Amino acid sequence: MIPFLDLKKINEPYETAFQEKLKLVLENGWYILGKEVETFEKAFAQYCESKYCIGVGNGFDALVLIFKGYIELGRLKKGDEVIVPANTYIASILAILQADLIPVLVEPRLETYNINPDLIEEKITSRTKAILAVHLYGQLAEMEAINEIAEKHHLIVVEDCAQSHGVINNQQLTNNNLSSAQAYSFYPGKNLGCLGDGGTITTNDEALAEVLFSLRNYGSEKKYHNEYIGINSRLDELQAGFLNLKLPNLDSDNEKRRTIAKRYLAEIKNNKIILPFWDFSSNHVFHLFVIRTENREKLQEYLAQNKIQTVIHYPIPPHQQKAFSSESLGWNNLSFPITEKIHKEVLSLPMSPVLTESEVDYVIKIINEF
Ligand SMILES: *Cc1c(COP(=O)(O)O)cnc(C)c1O
Repeated sequence: MIPFLDLKKINEPYETAFQEKLKLVLENGWYILGKEVETFEKAFAQYCESKYCIGVGNGFDALVLIFKGYIELGRLKKGDEVIVPANTYIASILAILQADLIPVLVEPRLETYNINPDLIEEKITSRTKAILAVHLYGQLAEMEAINEIAEKHHLIVVEDCAQSHGVINNQQLTNNNLSSAQAYSFYPGKNLGCLGDGGTITTNDEALAEVLFSLRNYGSEKKYHNEYIGINSRLDELQAGFLNLKLPNLDSDNEKRRTIAKRYLAEIKNNKIILPFWDFSSNHVFHLFVIRTENREKLQEYLAQNKIQTVIHYPIPPHQQKAFSSESLGWNNLSFPITEKIHKEVLSLPMSPVLTESEVDYVIKIINEF
């Protein structure tokens, strides 16, 4: 069987190092916000060429805390509208709601699956105060166009980088002068994953960083002195230790993903299948390799019969989720035809840095025979 994502195989090479790290943490006897977290925050900030990095509990909290941070700074207030792609993992939208802000959904481009900047301005009202860009499936959203709109309308730009670790490395596009912040998840299946939950925020904004270091820790920097109404969302010391071991390999892992993507793009030749758009630059880290087909269920079944595991990201568009049916939102009646089409047709092929050449050969061969 070719698994969609073999996490055990991904983490196997680190087994001895992980065990030594556990031993080290045990010997140190310091389990919360210790040396490993501090080391990781420094290393990841440097990796992203950001001034600040704030380790948090998970990717969802990273997003929520960014919005809460801007609220504390008076740059956002409850009820402000945030532009967000209609085609995203639901966490992006839930985080906006969790911070008492109003998500305003915008259709994607069919080719890239990412938010279509041409459709943003028509959704901007006097209450719009931010844009949450999502680099879906690992492909950078059109940040130049997004930043231009943000600058024109004085909007904050926040990025959901939960699927795109490494993609914005060495790119200055994302830090406009209105200040911005990026949210990352280290959920095990992400391009940089730990052995449990983890997340982080990067930013160049000193004021925001200061608030965030406090908000993640009950709103307190000095023990038992609480400045803000914070939450408990700290990057775990042990997980940070594991991430310190994995971060140095992120770029080469992403390169392996791109090599597999190049082969899929060049060698899958089947007119029933639409391949994803990529300009072959480093603006894609292929968290997922997502194809489209009108016969998705049939193709998935056929691949399963041939022992190839695939996953649908995602089967139900956020606006059609039962969670958003309530009267106050009433999103179930909204129509986002491109988002709906994507959700009906997408299928994610096996993709990971440990997928072997012969496995890729086999996937290509079987798909071409469909
Ligand atoms: C995984 C993911 C999140 C949430 O990350 P968690 O660590 O699971 O909370 C947010 N946004 C996107 C796009 C994701 O893929």
